[in-house]
Amino acid sequence: MRSAIVCAPRRQTGCDARSRCAMTASAPPHSNTAVMRIHHLNCISTCPVGGHLMDGRTPGVLTRGHLCCHCLLLETNEGLVLVDTGLGLGDCASPRTRLSAFFLALLKPEFREEMTAARQVEQLGYRRSDVRHIVLTHLDFDHAGGLDDFPDATIHMTDVEAKYALLQKTWLDRQRFRPQQWGSTRPQWRVYNQAGGDLWFGFDAVTNLHGLPDDILMVPLPGHTHGHAGVAVRDADGHWLLQAADAYFFHGEMDLQRPSCTPGLRFYQVLMEKDRKARLQNQQRLRELRRDHGAQVTICCGHDPIEFEQLTGRPMGTPAREYAAGLAGAH
Ligand SMILES: [Zn+2]
Repeated sequence: MRSAIVCAPRRQTGCDARSRCAMTASAPPHSNTAVMRIHHLNCISTCPVGGHLMDGRTPGVLTRGHLCCHCLLLETNEGLVLVDTGLGLGDCASPRTRLSAFFLALLKPEFREEMTAARQVEQLGYRRSDVRHIVLTHLDFDHAGGLDDFPDATIHMTDVEAKYALLQKTWLDRQRFRPQQWGSTRPQWRVYNQAGGDLWFGFDAVTNLHGLPDDILMVPLPGHTHGHAGVAVRDADGHWLLQAADAYFFHGEMDLQRPSCTPGLRFYQVLMEKDRKARLQNQQRLRELRRDHGAQVTICCGHDPIEFEQLTGRPMGTPAREYAAGLAGAH
């Protein structure tokens, strides 16, 4: 694995997470970090049918539940890096031409433009063109919808993910993988095969990304889709955050003794899975990672509101800007 390209200037560092910063206090400092700050963005909530059966906290099952689209915005010495994009401006403007009727009915996204990655980046004081890289966990519509809001970014993903999204083999593939969202971005794609790669806390075939420091790694976690990957980010304190995306959906699944999931999200994961054996094996590997290296690695997934709110200290319906303003001088 190559070493970090440039030594980042030490400046105010950390994540926008009050709770997690306490966890990192004992981690050894990592002098070469290129990731200076990690923002957590919910890039449009979805409101699935099933209420409590899905999110485990909405009262009743007849009202819709609430899930987040948990993306990361990294301030690095290579510019801004997004990890996933959630739903984007185009989805807000014309959902029916970009998204499938099936998923619109099932998930009823809350199309608030201020929650898109594009608007949250701007509200944090940046231009969209400052986003130089997007690392994509997979090409599902609720992760890739904001890709075309960032025409200056290189988009990194596994080659397997690109291949299956383009093949459009099954009815479900055509509902989940939407070229209407990302077709125009294909010249920006940079794909990675999983031959070789490195070991990272026991996970193999982990790859560096072209043009990015080795504080940002792609960690293959197939199952939900064939080319699904997590993204590991090392912060200025030397602590890792692994965005495991849709490798699991509910925080209870990371309990090593008694893994638990709401029935609705269990059903949804089975509906969407491409490889059950790999999916369940990866969930077990993630639980073991948490057990064995929990002091060095924080794990989160793509849609759990409890995890999002614990990591950020703000309600998931609040854009990053307001939280950042509230923290001024306090962090
Ligand atoms: Zn998803």
